Amino acid sequence: MTDRLLHFVQHPFGRRIARLFNLPQPVPLPRRQNAWVDEELAGRSVLAIAPGSAAPLPSLLAAIVAQGGTPSGDGPVRTLVIDATGCRDLAGLRALFEQAQLALGRLAPGGRALALTSAGVMSAAEAACLHAVQGFVRALAKEAGRRGATANALVLQEGAASMESLAGALRFFGTDRSAYVSGQVLSWRKDVEPRIDDERAPVALVTGAAGGIGAATARRLALDGMRVLCVDVPAARQPLEALAREIGGSLLAADLTAPGAVDELLDAVRRLHGVDVLVHNAGITRDRTLARMSPAEWDSVMAVNLAAILAIDARLDDTGLLNAGAREICLSSISGIAGNAGQTNYSASKAALIGYVGARAATLDERGGTINAVAPGFIETAMTRRMPLMVREAGRRLNSLKQGGTPADVAEAIAFLASPGAHPLTGQVLRVCGQSLLGA
Ligand code: NAD
Repeated sequence: MTDRLLHFVQHPFGRRIARLFNLPQPVPLPRRQNAWVDEELAGRSVLAIAPGSAAPLPSLLAAIVAQGGTPSGDGPVRTLVIDATGCRDLAGLRALFEQAQLALGRLAPGGRALALTSAGVMSAAEAACLHAVQGFVRALAKEAGRRGATANALVLQEGAASMESLAGALRFFGTDRSAYVSGQVLSWRKDVEPRIDDERAPVALVTGAAGGIGAATARRLALDGMRVLCVDVPAARQPLEALAREIGGSLLAADLTAPGAVDELLDAVRRLHGVDVLVHNAGITRDRTLARMSPAEWDSVMAVNLAAILAIDARLDDTGLLNAGAREICLSSISGIAGNAGQTNYSASKAALIGYVGARAATLDERGGTINAVAPGFIETAMTRRMPLMVREAGRRLNSLKQGGTPADVAEAIAFLASPGAHPLTGQVLRVCGQSLLGA
């Protein structure tokens, strides 16, 4: 789907008109959407600052070098890393203000800012100052968004500041892979060595693989060498077959809410020797205000968006077909965070997934795995193309980047959560929404 305004304002005439009528002026986002490489920061100028401390954490500097980052010197900065773990008093926050202000002037359009802050035992005054960093980053993200840049923060838990752990964080949050992720604050726990069972290619299962986000995800995971089992309804068999052929994967055409469908799915997974990356992406909307909503509209949304996921996971747990170290990703939505008029069924189902990943994290942790939710905002897909024009325009613009995301942006976040570097994230919600104002 074309965002006409995004193209229009790239021309001087369009920009003049936009300024005259006070229209949003979105900037094209630099994106990186290929397979992972060893040095994700290669070719990027990186600046690390450490307000409140004498110098950035040595492990952070080592992580930047390990990922191939180049010190920015006096030139433009494409990745700004703010080690704010020393911002524990007002003087530290004052240093944050001064140093970030200087650095921001050098952040290139489309640049990435990542702040690191700290958790753990501390005084209430220290907690207040460290928490201040989160508000600072969220506000900074709103300002940076005007130039297509982003800012995010990680709260480092005890033992989470190792070189390997920080390198994993930089691979996504410090690069153009996170183009549509902004204003997010996530907890980053101590990394543990992920279990690797054998040398075989990991198996990924993607439900709703014929749809916009599902197909992009299947393609992206295949780029990382995974064998992808693509699942969608029988009516989507044709695109599903074409996709499976294109990426060298396999397919199952089944309605996941139909009797016997979960058995069929398990048989397919058994043939592949279990699943390593599980992406619960299939989802539907049946929008209507609560007063007018039919029981069938409530039931069908709950059946696809929630009951099918619970049923699949229960059976995978019973049969041991979720392999050790598995990564599970559930597609939630900002509607599940903010709520949306006309979507009581959908918002409830998507909020349920946020509760689910939080509670299920401990179960997967026992076996070296993780589970997270990805909450897309406005993404340019068939789902959003069906919206009335004005609703669609509002959805596109009500975020810090003033544009919609793409299915590939969501796929990139999923590929990150499925990658070894993301092991420190579990039980959380990663919003891919350009810092949508909804639920912010
Ligand atoms: P889409 O409609 O393009 O794709 C969804 C796919 O799920 C379709 O191919 C559909 O056939 C499949 N599906 C539906 N019911 C199924 C069933 N019973 N069994 C098997 N497959 C079934 O939607 P999308 O935009 O790609 O969304 C993917 C996920 O992301 C959904 O869970 C959606 O709720 C979520 N999401 C999307 C957006 C957005 O802006 N597009 C925003 C937030 C969340």
